[in-house]
Amino acid sequence: MTLPASHQPPATAASRYTRRSVLTGAFALATAAALPVAAAGRAYSAAGPEIIGCAAWGARAASEPVVVLANRPERIIVHHTATANVTDYSRQRAIALARAIQTYHMDAQGWIDTGQHFTVSRGAFVLEGRHNSLAELNSGRRQVRAAHCVGQNTVSIGIENEGTYTSQAPPAAQYAALADLCAHICDHYGLPASEIYGHRDFNSTACPGDRLYALLPALRRDVATRLGTPLSEPEPNPDEDPVWDLVRQTTGRPPAATLGEYLPAGLLP
Ligand SMILES: [Zn+2]
Repeated sequence: MTLPASHQPPATAASRYTRRSVLTGAFALATAAALPVAAAGRAYSAAGPEIIGCAAWGARAASEPVVVLANRPERIIVHHTATANVTDYSRQRAIALARAIQTYHMDAQGWIDTGQHFTVSRGAFVLEGRHNSLAELNSGRRQVRAAHCVGQNTVSIGIENEGTYTSQAPPAAQYAALADLCAHICDHYGLPASEIYGHRDFNSTACPGDRLYALLPALRRDVATRLGTPLSEPEPNPDEDPVWDLVRQTTGRPPAATLGEYLPAGLLP
């Protein structure tokens, strides 16, 4: 599919990031094998990706003030929205998605605002979710209490990726936007790239889908590349993760996503 001239993610991304000329050794091979070319080897720019704020996408006011926590987040948690894998990659679609998620989270789930901190559309647009998430990210010192992952809402940044990634992988541009956003978050909060997880690492859910979940080791490597730091800490091993063990012992392999990630028909055009 041809993207509109106003939104071609590789060209846009190239203007924000300087491409590294060299990737060496096994790292480069692993990255190239696992990932779309557009996602590999980019260095991180402190300017970060463009993030469409709540005011810019026309968010409703939160039903009560969002809570700003005095602590930095300890990790990033990746989700998928479990919505259709649309081929509308426009900014308008991204904004419609952000509004639909907020409507669902507030009116059906009864939450005070959008649950997650950030959203990445299939067209690679990045949007603020819960109010104040962007301002606090820029502060680098605090985070907004969220509603995206039970037990993790005061210590993690939640990112919803538009689509269903159980059997399909995300588009290359969306993946690159996710990596850019994660690098920006890690940079501002001083997080190592190893602290990127999937929703299923903490709750009984299929989220973020087998295909996106399988990309997380590559995502950690790509974020480390953007930050210019080696991925020195050991990657999490689910077999040794006490939280995951508890989930597995009590529920077995998670059968389905919950927590409001299935948007009812009609909320999206
Ligand atoms: Zn999730």
